[in-house]
Amino acid sequence: MVSIAIDGPGGAGKSTIAKALAKKLGYIYVDTGALYRAIGLYMLNSGADTKDMSAVTPKLAEIDVELKYVDGAQKVILCGQDVSSEIRKPEVSMAASDVSAIGDVRAFLLDLQRDMARKNNVIMDGRDIGTVVLPNAQIKIFLTASAEERAMRRYKELVEKGVEVEYETVLKELNERDYQDSHREIAPLKPAEDADLIDTTGNNLEQSVNMLAEYVSKRLGELEE
Ligand code: C5P
Repeated sequence: MVSIAIDGPGGAGKSTIAKALAKKLGYIYVDTGALYRAIGLYMLNSGADTKDMSAVTPKLAEIDVELKYVDGAQKVILCGQDVSSEIRKPEVSMAASDVSAIGDVRAFLLDLQRDMARKNNVIMDGRDIGTVVLPNAQIKIFLTASAEERAMRRYKELVEKGVEVEYETVLKELNERDYQDSHREIAPLKPAEDADLIDTTGNNLEQSVNMLAEYVSKRLGELEE
């Protein structure tokens, strides 16, 4: 099986690019952030303090989370309910980042992620895929762009969805989340030593997808040699 790991900060375009590449290659796209978002949503709904390990950890036993694929699109099923849209709400982003710093939460989701890669050719995106989840991935990419540009992309996405929000707020929250994700003790956001850094600042989405598609097909060709 071939695994392609794409890590990087929020709003770098990982999911859109990974989705497009997966379609091109016939691989399964695994958005691991969605799993942390599902746990964050569950904790918010149950009133647990998302930063408090002693409140979060015992509740993990109540949670059943799975990924399903409908017409190639990933659906997140939390305790039997499709929460794919709900987990995209801005308040769930920070809750996901909070719970993701807790070791038991990361351990809870690890097998599920590795299992997907054992059974399928995958493009998996997240924060620790190349470093922790799939250290043997054949291709590792660390995708980034300037904070301002990432925030602008996220802001436009939210406005398109009809969410009322200010650009400054999006930038502030994105910076906070990246800081928290890069400074946690367990599986912090950082490039794997053998990852290739790709910066998409100044590109539009189509340019980024093409850039990555070219890069990945070159690397896959090298693997076959
Ligand atoms: O990728 P996305 O923005 O949906 O991820 C939400 C949060 O989940 C991130 O801010 C991060 O804290 C956490 N996450 C993680 N490890 C991953 C994927 C996401 O800690 N592999």
